[in-house]
Amino acid sequence: MNPQHEPAGLDESTVEHLAATLRRRRIELADAAGVRIGQGQVVHGLTTHMWAGVPVPAVQCHAAVDPLRLTPSAGPVTCRRCLGRGRQEQTQVPGQTALEM
Ligand SMILES: [Zn+2]
Repeated sequence: MNPQHEPAGLDESTVEHLAATLRRRRIELADAAGVRIGQGQVVHGLTTHMWAGVPVPAVQCHAAVDPLRLTPSAGPVTCRRCLGRGRQEQTQVPGQTALEM
C-alpha cells in the first residue's frame, strides 16, 4: 500500500512532480541562446511543446529528446535543421516573453 509505487506508473502525484520538474527546466533554459543534448556538441534552437498542458522545453528540429537531458548553451545555434526552421519561427521566441518581465 505504498503510494510511491503505484502500479499504473503515472498517478496524479507522479504527473504533478514531472510537470513541476519540466516547468523548472524550461525556466532554467529560458535565457539560453540554445540548448545542447546531453554532452553533445551541436547547439539546437530552443522551442516549447505542450505536454499534458505543461510547457516543455524542446529543440526546434523536433529531434526526439528527453527534455531533462537538455542543457543550456550560450549559442550560437549550430544545428542546421534548427536554423532552417528558425527562420519561420523567429516571431515567437519561446519562453522569453513572460519570464523576463
Ligand atoms: Zn536541432
